[in-house]
Amino acid sequence: MILGIECTAHTFGVGVVHKGKVLSNVRDMFTTKSGGIIPMEAAKHHREVAEEVYREALMKAVIDESEIDAIALSNAPGLAPCLLAGMEFAKKKAEQLKVPIVSVNHCIAHLEIARTAGAKDPVLLYVSGANTQIIAYASKKYRIFGETLDIGIGNFIDKFARHTGLGFPGGPKLEIEAQKANPGNYIELPYSVKGMDVSFSGMQTKLQQLYDKGMKIEDLAFSMQETAFAMLVEAAERALAHTGKKELALGGGVACNKRLQEMCRIMCRERKAKFFCPEKSLLVDNGGMIAYLGEIIFSTTFKKGSRSPNENDKVDIRPRERTDQVDVKWK
Ligand code: AMP
Ligand code: MG
Repeated sequence: MILGIECTAHTFGVGVVHKGKVLSNVRDMFTTKSGGIIPMEAAKHHREVAEEVYREALMKAVIDESEIDAIALSNAPGLAPCLLAGMEFAKKKAEQLKVPIVSVNHCIAHLEIARTAGAKDPVLLYVSGANTQIIAYASKKYRIFGETLDIGIGNFIDKFARHTGLGFPGGPKLEIEAQKANPGNYIELPYSVKGMDVSFSGMQTKLQQLYDKGMKIEDLAFSMQETAFAMLVEAAERALAHTGKKELALGGGVACNKRLQEMCRIMCRERKAKFFCPEKSLLVDNGGMIAYLGEIIFSTTFKKGSRSPNENDKVDIRPRERTDQVDVKWK
């Protein structure tokens, strides 16, 4: 029985996993009325909600905390104050329960949770607020095949939404606006793919200029989605071709977007690849995916007795860890 803790950014989540099955997955997200997240405030939020989220996750999984064998912690990458708040909580619980802590890389957890949707060895298009990466496992490491060169796709969308007064998070609101548009009103926007990398700042500037000139929000939202998602799908397709893999998976909050899902599905159909999109509660930041990968790591690399709870002192946060720096011992 593995309990997973997610704490890398705005979300504090706790999930319970047993033999690859997610028994519970509870989340509490830090939100702001205006502006982005302030790391210290998000960390304060995590400290405030931790115990309650933990209790609810145990209750929903219908287990007693004495049944927990290990605590999986998203120790990387993320906002340092948030990671620290999560680690503090994990260490406190681990000490009480006398169980080891398993460190889990958040981005890799997004990839591996796609297994619950049926994927075996996918290319992951990871599209969240701060992160935009195309990741796949190849030659003993999870490699970043492409990524954003400037801003993350979610932050890019939210920034434009904020400019138009739509508020945060802007992604779902702009998706609704885009559905109102007449496709004939598509406006050409800066399209920037360099190899398998993408960048959004040129499009950002252009969108804001067009909005300030009085162009309709629905046409801009539609054009933004078509252009930005086409860039991501092009880069993801190149990664599929390069790696020879036959599966694409989506992860991250922006993956909730139906148009992005549809574009991925079409691309996969055309090149005879399979497309996987985990259910929403596992797409966004959540403790369930941390517990899921934590269980794989725990069951393959923590041989019985080889690691006592005393070694939890060695666990530390790694705010800037890159996906390809992770030493993959569990494959
Ligand atoms: P994450 O960082 O993975 O929690 O994802 C949060 C980001 O997902 C925010 O930038 C949201 O605006 C974005 N998002 C959520 N739902 C949608 C949607 N339906 N379409 C586009 N973006 C979305
Ligand atoms: Mg994430």
